[in-house]
Amino acid sequence: MRAVGVDLGATNARAALVDVETGKIVAETKTPWPDTASGRSPETVASLVGEAVRTIDPKKERSGVGIGFAGMLRGWSGVVVIAPNFGWREVDFRPMLRAQVGESCEVYNDLNAIAYGEAVYGGARGFDDVVCVYVGTGVGGGIVANGRLYAGSTHLAGEIGHTKVVPAGRLCGCGMRGCLEAYTSGRNIQKRAQEELREGERSLAVELAGGSIDDVHAGVLDEAARRGDVYAGRLWEEVSTLLGMALANIVTTLNPSRLVMGGGVWNGAPELRRRSIARLLELVNQPSREGFEVVDTTLGDTAGMLGAAALIAGWPGGKK
Ligand SMILES: [Zn+2]
Repeated sequence: MRAVGVDLGATNARAALVDVETGKIVAETKTPWPDTASGRSPETVASLVGEAVRTIDPKKERSGVGIGFAGMLRGWSGVVVIAPNFGWREVDFRPMLRAQVGESCEVYNDLNAIAYGEAVYGGARGFDDVVCVYVGTGVGGGIVANGRLYAGSTHLAGEIGHTKVVPAGRLCGCGMRGCLEAYTSGRNIQKRAQEELREGERSLAVELAGGSIDDVHAGVLDEAARRGDVYAGRLWEEVSTLLGMALANIVTTLNPSRLVMGGGVWNGAPELRRRSIARLLELVNQPSREGFEVVDTTLGDTAGMLGAAALIAGWPGGKK
């Protein structure tokens, strides 16, 4: 059985025709967004998806087209409530897509698609209860329970980035205070460190960034923390404690056998990662550690396409 998975990312659209039984990509295409004002309009994006699907699946072998999308969706209606990467608000996207690629077409939250891809084909292959968390520019996640995507009653499950970790804490991009994302996303780590360094904190990270506070980011802070820098060490202590605690709470609540971790900050800041895993293992309800492992993503940037293809095909269907 074959299906098409599409990943509508920040810089380009990628699509793959996938053999869903094996997770092998049969054909693939990547299209950068046009560099024009209307380059990311819903109509343009839908027509680019149509073009990509016709290119990789000219014989219409697909059972459907699954689309992973970084945006907030309204339930299973296919309406995009908000998509910051595209500047969309309240877009009834699904009919536009269906006009291009046929009726069997669904839009999924990108991290839900990634989580499902990693659970079916990747780092947690063979496990029915999986949580996947990405710590990158933002912080997000997806949950697979009993071998199925757990999307929640209105398609919003897995929003770990907006769980609260500090009462009345730092302001988050979602408009609320104290969210995990406000402390641990790449964007917020960078913003906070730059603020504090401008206010007079000193850190080796500035030197490692070439002498400019404007260029300090999670990667150089990580290097500074590894080299014993006091400021970076203190910041990492706080960030890793909050991240480890939030992850431990999810593991305690959901009792997954695998926690799949990925994202730019997670992969690019080994010291933060080491400390966060240590915190998680300290703070998790001890009986839920049995048989539990933290693993890396293994599908890289194909996870979303593979997961979206498997979801639309209904593969493997219920329990694996
Ligand atoms: Zn938030």
